[in-house]
Amino acid sequence: MEVVYQTGGTRVVVNPALLVVACDPRALEPVMEYTPQERVLLSSLRNFTFYTTCLRVYPRRVQDRVVILAPDIVESQTGLVQGYRNETAKEWGLSAASRAETNVVTTYQMVGVDGASNPGVLAAQRKAFLDSPPSWWPFQPGRYEIVQVDENQNGAIHPAVNPLLTPYFNQFTFGALEGGAPWRWLDMQGANDTVYVHASTCFESVLHCWSYLNILLDAKPALLSAARDSAIVVIGAGVSGLLFAQRFIDLGFTNITLLEKTDRFAGKTHSLQVPDQGGTSIAELGTCYLSPAYDDMVDALSEFTVGNERVAVAHGSGRGIVVGTPPNETVMSFSDYGLMAACQYLGFGWPCSRAKQDLAYLELVAAAGIYVGLRFEIFGSVDGAMPVSRPVGDPYGVFSKTFAQYLDDNRMGALKGYLMYAYQVQGYGDLDKIPAYYGLVWVMPDMAWPFGETSGVTAWQKGWEDVWDQMVTKRKMNITLNTDIISIRR
Ligand SMILES: Cc1cc2nc3c(=O)[nH]c(=O)nc-3n(C[C@H](O)[C@H](O)[C@H](O)COP(=O)(O)OP(=O)(O)OC[C@H]3O[C@@H](n4cnc5c(N)ncnc54)[C@H](O)[C@@H]3O)c2cc1C
Repeated sequence: MEVVYQTGGTRVVVNPALLVVACDPRALEPVMEYTPQERVLLSSLRNFTFYTTCLRVYPRRVQDRVVILAPDIVESQTGLVQGYRNETAKEWGLSAASRAETNVVTTYQMVGVDGASNPGVLAAQRKAFLDSPPSWWPFQPGRYEIVQVDENQNGAIHPAVNPLLTPYFNQFTFGALEGGAPWRWLDMQGANDTVYVHASTCFESVLHCWSYLNILLDAKPALLSAARDSAIVVIGAGVSGLLFAQRFIDLGFTNITLLEKTDRFAGKTHSLQVPDQGGTSIAELGTCYLSPAYDDMVDALSEFTVGNERVAVAHGSGRGIVVGTPPNETVMSFSDYGLMAACQYLGFGWPCSRAKQDLAYLELVAAAGIYVGLRFEIFGSVDGAMPVSRPVGDPYGVFSKTFAQYLDDNRMGALKGYLMYAYQVQGYGDLDKIPAYYGLVWVMPDMAWPFGETSGVTAWQKGWEDVWDQMVTKRKMNITLNTDIISIRR
């Protein structure tokens, strides 16, 4: 194998024993000859795009939510501002944020598979929103600055990326899923001395990247029998590349080189350290939340979270959902919204009597039970990023039905309001359009239990980037930034 790359005007040729593709493999199409089997898989991948911006804004009223998201706007996936997180309130509390002269917020915009993800268009959509905002924006119209701060990675100081425009949620089409694409990919791992670990192999989240590595090493033990000094080249120093390098370094591999295209590592993780309220607020432009399903991973990575704390974010009524369209919008709490959607689903209307709400609540408990039971039956385990082998047949239609249809057909329709928040507004696609399989992959049992004011959603007090910084430093990772891959011959 030969990998040729350029960095700082120097052309370098390496001959690794193993190539690890930790970036979107489609990005390497111009420089790498894929096999016909690989090409079939890559051609059926598609992705959304996320555009996030950190802003300094001016409160105009007392705030009662840390996070506000509008499912109806997310659904259109046309790049409109669909919600925000108040980073000042996350860091210092809502009342401090309301009293402060300025707040730091992160806005979210999402473009769907076929949409134009031109940064100029997205910036214009954001400007139009900020100049003439809807009622759920509790800040002064037209008064804002895009935050500019420097970031310090490995001793190098450079301007932080803001806004962050990134491909998001690489996913297979219904047809490719029915054809078993994720498992065909798993089968191919290791062939031609190549492995793929980017989020596109499994699902878009840190937990899934981490879990996939476990599945990969179980499925391909030969990877671990290679000589410990064999040369490994990892292309992409995002979350997946770093997790791979850390695992292999810990297994005794001594010759791992990470090649990163940009001037920073961590990929879609971007934690801005913004001066705020006499201290620092962390604005997560990319990776942000953890749920209780992340606990095992957090334990396994505890060496890299020293001095970092998991803090509650937007628990209970701190999370708002926008219902209705201007000028008749209201913002409801997550729990009220979920209950309202269940009552409407059952034909009770809203508002409705306490007795009807209790009936809806019982239906929700039953639906959550069905969800957990069916997921276990289909996945063969309680958690896990994906079933380790392709489910036999498709008795529940998880590859052919949309998530919404799957819920309706299996007496779980009442859950749709909660899942609108847990799934749709997180940017993983409309319940009515996305394959049920992806909903099941993301909504693990402890997330399917949506009741009460707390949901266990947390974030890192010092941001996700601190985790990767500690990992890179403690494992003395060999990362070459600003690399341009010229050719890969396998
Ligand atoms: C707005 C947003 C919010 C998110 N929120 C959460 C969340 O709350 N919780 C959660 O768990 N996850 C979240 N995620 C998802 C999570 O960040 C990703 O799943 C994870 O970062 C994927 O890591 P990756 O390494 O597979 O890909 P990436 O992070 O995209 O890394 C790929 C790396 O490869 C590099 N690269 C690309 N092409 C080349 C090339 N030709 N040569 C060399 N290098 C190359 C890129 O520059 C990048 O550094 C969020 C993501 C976004 C964008």
